[in-house]
Amino acid sequence: MNTPAASVADYGARAIGPIILLGAPGAGKGTQAKQIVDRYGIPQISTGDLLRENVKLGTELGKKAKAIMDRGELVSDELVCDMVAERLSRPDCARGYILDGFPRTCAQAEWLDGYLSARGSKLPLRVIKIAVDYDRLLKRLTGRRTCPVCGTIYNIHFNPPKVANTCDQDGAALSLRKDDNETSISERLKAYEKQTLPLTDYYRARHALTEINGDAAPEKVSADVLAALEQRPDKA
Ligand code: AMP
Repeated sequence: MNTPAASVADYGARAIGPIILLGAPGAGKGTQAKQIVDRYGIPQISTGDLLRENVKLGTELGKKAKAIMDRGELVSDELVCDMVAERLSRPDCARGYILDGFPRTCAQAEWLDGYLSARGSKLPLRVIKIAVDYDRLLKRLTGRRTCPVCGTIYNIHFNPPKVANTCDQDGAALSLRKDDNETSISERLKAYEKQTLPLTDYYRARHALTEINGDAAPEKVSADVLAALEQRPDKA
């Protein structure tokens, strides 16, 4: 049965709490985060986007992070946690927020636990893991193109723009992320396997984890993610 699309108007006043989207690069965390933003009106905090913004602005953090990101390795826990702490202190995070790309190591997860308990956070942390087959991840990453103006994400294999290399929304030329080349992609997937995958067990042990099949059709993945957020994680 189709239910009418619910929006911020229906969910806007509710406290949601922290949500982590866990998954390999290319698993669709950014796309799913946008659905959650639309429904609950809480901000998406993508550490990758924040770091790229710092690189673009040439900040001290950006200078330290640039070469590491280009190689597809992880920026140090300390730098990333400081950046996240600053972002979470802003008023728009009061009802909740979506962490996209953070935590990525056990040290970051432990830091976040400490951060939340120091603030007496009442709402439980929810972790949604989007699991995607390795070959599909490769196609998603090599085919990914982004509009530098409005941020719309395309994929030349699965979701191409109407006119090659041109954004459907505003006609801007699409760009390829600097780290979406074969060498960096392989490094990023290795970093995920080694440093981020252990977080699945970390959060499963804390009964915070819901796993979603990210290989399903995009609408099904979105519906599953939103449904999971309406349930208690250990009952999902
Ligand atoms: P993403 O856009 O999430 O794929 O992140 C792009 C790059 O930013 C990663 O390959 C890392 O170099 C860096 N990065 C993003 N988030 C983190 C994090 N939580 N910890 C360390 N490095 C990160």
